[in-house]
Amino acid sequence: MTKEEILLAHRDYLYPSVFHYYKEPLLIERGKDQYVWDADGNQYLDFFGGIVTIGVGHCNEEVNRKVHAQLDRLQHVSTVFATEPQAALAKKLAEITPGRKLTKSFFTNSGTEANETAILTARCYTGSTEIVGLRYAYHGRSSLAMSLTAQSNWRLGPVTQAGIVHAVNAYCYRCPYGLSYPSCGVKCAQDVEEVIRTTTSGRIAGFIAEPIQGVAGFVTPPKEYFPIVSDIVKKYGGLFISDEVQTGWGRTGGKWFGIEQWGVQPDIITSAKSLGNGAPIGLTVARPEVADSVKGATISTFGGNPITTTAAKAVIDFIEDHKLSINAAEVGAYLQDKLNELKEKHSIIGDVRGMGLLQAIELVEDRQTKKPATALMPALMEATRENKLLVGKGGFYGNVIRLSPPLNIGKTDVDDFARLLDASFVKAQSALALA
Ligand code: PMP
Repeated sequence: MTKEEILLAHRDYLYPSVFHYYKEPLLIERGKDQYVWDADGNQYLDFFGGIVTIGVGHCNEEVNRKVHAQLDRLQHVSTVFATEPQAALAKKLAEITPGRKLTKSFFTNSGTEANETAILTARCYTGSTEIVGLRYAYHGRSSLAMSLTAQSNWRLGPVTQAGIVHAVNAYCYRCPYGLSYPSCGVKCAQDVEEVIRTTTSGRIAGFIAEPIQGVAGFVTPPKEYFPIVSDIVKKYGGLFISDEVQTGWGRTGGKWFGIEQWGVQPDIITSAKSLGNGAPIGLTVARPEVADSVKGATISTFGGNPITTTAAKAVIDFIEDHKLSINAAEVGAYLQDKLNELKEKHSIIGDVRGMGLLQAIELVEDRQTKKPATALMPALMEATRENKLLVGKGGFYGNVIRLSPPLNIGKTDVDDFARLLDASFVKAQSALALA
């Protein structure tokens, strides 16, 4: 197909909800490591990694070699038969979960399904149905996952699941109470108890949160937040579910999972995205006695598929062998420094936040009023495209640039990125001034 035919087919034969970045959709043809190339042969530095998914680089040779071999050996038999790739991945996961305490896995195909499975598990284990989530959260696109999600524009259709309530999130830059950290005493954490006591029966099945809220714009809670919340959740009989779809697999630097940065022991972890580096896999991993409570018939035909589990095991081995979570910490700190330098230069940058190679900048029209610079975003996205840089867009107000490059980049990539983003700011601001 020609480029025009592809773009026309996209427009005519896909749901309109399959939206694109940029005025003209960008047609990507191939990728290698931290780069992708468009249909005209232009090379782009990819600092979004297919929405926080390309953790070990595009078309990683070690991962692909193992996947190719598995494709030729066995592709699919379903979970009613035993296979080595699924068993090997589950065994490896049991060795790397926090405290080695989450040892039983259930595999699906997406983050949405991973969260569905986690909620089912918490409900089976506790006999309760009520779940506490956080405002601004994103947990997926099924009916249940949209109910857990707390941003109206991602709650499409009639979202009517009962028993799901939301506490305020720890969004320090826009504190829901108008307070400042640390003098606030992390008041937002107490809202979890307030919500349980006022809007549930007091016996909850669980609490679900992203350690760093992804779609919300990498909202990063202070260090006291999750320890306080974890104690509250325990007090009311609930399980702590850490949604690590974006924060897992070394991304936050120095640890396998984001929640470990807060020193909290979750009961269930869910993940997807970077675990497969592009292979569609969802993971729900739980304490054994928690997992054992799910006894009835439930099956995911593709879950634990030999191809995707081979990919996931190869990704984990690659991260381990190449010490990529250490690299994420080091290069991530360097990236954050560069973003703070850009903040000195561009008053439109209101906040720089994140951990490791999960970093964001929130753009504001005025640092005093913090009015979201939503109007600049389209011009800025176009400018990054013209400068051959891929970044993510997000945030509750649509004014956050999200950065999640592969974990195996180096500091020179960050230098390239900073130069391109700097130039993009200049270009976007002059485009806006001319408009
Ligand atoms: N949880 C989080 C934190 C996510 O960011 C996402 C996807 N953006 C999901 C769940 C849902 O994952 P998927 O799109 O694979 O269903």
